[in-house]
Amino acid sequence: MIIAPSPRPRREVAADAGSTVPPQEIEAGSLEVPPRHDGGGLADDALDEKRATARPVDRAPLSERDRRRQRQSELARASARVTAPGLCEEAKAARATLLAGFRTVEPGFGSLLIDPVLPDSITARVANALQVAQRVTAELVASPAAIPPPLVVVYRSLNQMREVARVNTSTWGYYDGAIHLSGNPNGGLKELEETLVHEYVHHVLVQQGVRLPMWLSEGTAILLARETWWRQPELALLPWARSTHLPFDSLVPAFAHATDEQTATHLYFQSFLMVELIRGRAGMQALRTVISRLGQGLVSPDDAFSEASGIAPSELDGVFHAWVQTVSLP
Ligand SMILES: [Zn+2]
Repeated sequence: MIIAPSPRPRREVAADAGSTVPPQEIEAGSLEVPPRHDGGGLADDALDEKRATARPVDRAPLSERDRRRQRQSELARASARVTAPGLCEEAKAARATLLAGFRTVEPGFGSLLIDPVLPDSITARVANALQVAQRVTAELVASPAAIPPPLVVVYRSLNQMREVARVNTSTWGYYDGAIHLSGNPNGGLKELEETLVHEYVHHVLVQQGVRLPMWLSEGTAILLARETWWRQPELALLPWARSTHLPFDSLVPAFAHATDEQTATHLYFQSFLMVELIRGRAGMQALRTVISRLGQGLVSPDDAFSEASGIAPSELDGVFHAWVQTVSLP
């Protein structure tokens, strides 16, 4: 759902001179903005996830059958939450009230619900970005034309978007069946387009019936949106990945919102690496195939990495580790 990090510092440079956005709506800029992200497909908080997986340490180990059952129910819950608005009643009402004042625009492809304070130039930008998003995601599916474009809700600022959603403060956009993002030109128009493509990838996968694995959805979104936040030297992500990685199965369910910023950044970056590994070994065709097979239930989210990469489960750790040492990333 929601979007991915952009540790790029966001400055208050008006990318579009002549913006009519009131000064008080300018995004609060900070040089310490952490990687932007969208909560790993979740509009929800992570409390249920934590409760679901916590087990008293003194309990007897689970049998294989129970372990499988527990994993299935964990993934079922995670899957159900991917597009769940996750809003409390109060936030739901606040969002509905806010959106009632937005204007609807039908640009020919898709439809927009846009804050009336935003200039027409932004409407045009979003409409154009929507077409770009459709074009760059076309290679993920056999029949891209069969995927209906989502509603895109364009807020006047990130703050306005975040105030009526249960998302964390580094959320730049999110997907809950509609794409939600900020159209504030002062927030950076490149970010707007990047965010739209990122969320559109989530839309395409959900339309194919693919909610999990989360690494596939986030990694593909980062790849196709051509995000570069992970390159920031201060994040030291490549050195981190060359020294260790998170267990692959921990990247299958939705990324928890409560996860600390550094862990969240690692989750997103490793997702990107996993997708890049598949693409490097087997091409975009392998991504398209695994998306199709996941959508048809022919492969489970837990088995998707091994299948798509063509690496036996027992060799995944070693092959991934060796690959990361020498990879040159796009
Ligand atoms: Zn995302």
